Amino acid sequence: MRMRRCALCGKYTMKEKCACGGEAESAHPARFSFEDKYAKYRRKMKYGMRV
Ligand SMILES: [Zn+2]
Repeated sequence: MRMRRCALCGKYTMKEKCACGGEAESAHPARFSFEDKYAKYRRKMKYGMRV
């Protein structure tokens, strides 16, 4: 599931076009490596909480 964000009103949507008629752009650009960096950490946290 990929979240998109409306460039016009700033609302988050799953569709390519927002309800307001604005273009929805990807909220998580592929070049953004921040997510990847913290994915491991997040997984660790989850694991720690379950055990
Ligand atoms: Zn909108």
